[in-house]
Amino acid sequence: MIEKHQFYINGAWVDPLEGTQCDVIDPSTEEAAASIMLGGQADTDAAVAAARAAYDKWSATPVEDRIGYVRKILDEYTARQHDMAAAISLEMGAPIEFSLEEQVDSGDWHIKGFLKAIEDFEWEHGLNGRKGSRILKDPIGVVGMITPWNWPMNQVALKAVPAMMAGCTMVLKPSEIAPLSSLLFAEIVDAAGVPAGVFNLVNGDGLGVGTQLSKHPDVDMISFTGSTRAGIAISKAAADTLKRVSLELGGKGANIVFADADEDAVKRGARQVFENTGQSCNAPTRMLVERSRYDQAVEEAAETARNTKVASAHEKGGHIGPLVSELQFNKVQDLIQKGIDEGARLVAGGTGRPDGLNRGYFARPTVFADVTNDMTIMREEIFGPVLSIMPFDTEEEALSIANDTVYGLTNYVQSTDAKRLEHFARRLRSGMVQMNGKSRGQGAPFGGVRQSGNGREGGVWGIEEFMEIKSVGGWPD
Ligand code: NAD
Repeated sequence: MIEKHQFYINGAWVDPLEGTQCDVIDPSTEEAAASIMLGGQADTDAAVAAARAAYDKWSATPVEDRIGYVRKILDEYTARQHDMAAAISLEMGAPIEFSLEEQVDSGDWHIKGFLKAIEDFEWEHGLNGRKGSRILKDPIGVVGMITPWNWPMNQVALKAVPAMMAGCTMVLKPSEIAPLSSLLFAEIVDAAGVPAGVFNLVNGDGLGVGTQLSKHPDVDMISFTGSTRAGIAISKAAADTLKRVSLELGGKGANIVFADADEDAVKRGARQVFENTGQSCNAPTRMLVERSRYDQAVEEAAETARNTKVASAHEKGGHIGPLVSELQFNKVQDLIQKGIDEGARLVAGGTGRPDGLNRGYFARPTVFADVTNDMTIMREEIFGPVLSIMPFDTEEEALSIANDTVYGLTNYVQSTDAKRLEHFARRLRSGMVQMNGKSRGQGAPFGGVRQSGNGREGGVWGIEEFMEIKSVGGWPD
């Protein structure tokens, strides 16, 4: 069994001051695959103190030098991509090929996006030509970073890299369910020669290190990605010190499919739901289909589910893996049962494991049709391979159902009518809209509105997240 009991503090691997042991479970086998320590207040304090001590020097380090360290991180990350793919696959169950091609790749995609965005980043500027007025951008200070397990390196790259570029120092607390990839990331930062104290890592759970960072008087900002539930708890814990809290939370994306959509629209939408075993905050899990195309859409989505192979994360191939944990498995099973109990029509999948899999947190790719907007499966984030479909008759109806949610992360539109696409892009209440299967481009801001959070990660916006605006008068022009 892999033993990773140390934390990375002040440029060195150190023993916990008050740790409790915690197993990392391989979701494909349900066996303990690694052992870590969950730190306590003394460990959190030591990491924050190291970040605080490193701040003055790092924030005054020329930006070209800070960028140079990020380039070295990218080199090391690329050199260790297979180790990283293995770590992610083991800790959260992404099949090994998907882990390399999507999970690991998302990390270096973002690093490259930041390296591009920083090229013409405006560090300071005047104020409408007014004499003596100057707007500067200051690094925000010491950042506590709390990340989830579902896209581990995507999340860490979106936080640690721009914070470093901005001149911040940081303490990362990765998910206790998937800490191995972040421990490897700390090795990468170390190998890149980043000065001691700039990047620190303490393992821990939400109630321990997560809360300690959120409350810490010496932490200036919390950058959090995870559930809406934890986002609320963190905001409350952070309130007494009035630190900035940037939140990337859950979602319940609508995918509006019009009758004139391209041929692959429905299958593409279903595949996006099943990818990463449904464990993506931006999954398009509510499919709204124009009535004239509805029956065909239900059949196509069901067929996509039936063709989605489920197998161990350790096997090669384009299948999906298990859910991350027993807790997540039970939650998804309960919600599938709720869909059945509340009267949705099950057209593929259902409760239980796929045939032939008796061990591991494997769920069946599931499609419900004739879902109504008040059903639990239409309202709650399931975070499993479950797609809910319902018909609509008019544009107004589709828009109103899509916006009738507490979330607002990504919505999707499928149509060949340019006017309609523009209308929906403007009217959908979400931080992101994706149309006709097109990506939003490297360096585009990622983030939500309402209970999906308030942060914007990636590109220029993702660097600005870690900065304060300083307004100066009497600047010697
Ligand atoms: P989670 O909220 O349970 O845990 C996320 C992190 O928060 C972990 O590190 C955990 O230890 C910590 N945490 C939990 N409770 C805490 C508390 N009270 N105080 C401080 N820290 C706490 O989420 P998860 O199960 O790891 O991840 C799944 C969730 O993340 C989903 O809701 C998903 O939609 C969301 N997510 C959002 C985005 C986004 O960018 N919007 C991206 C990925 C995942």
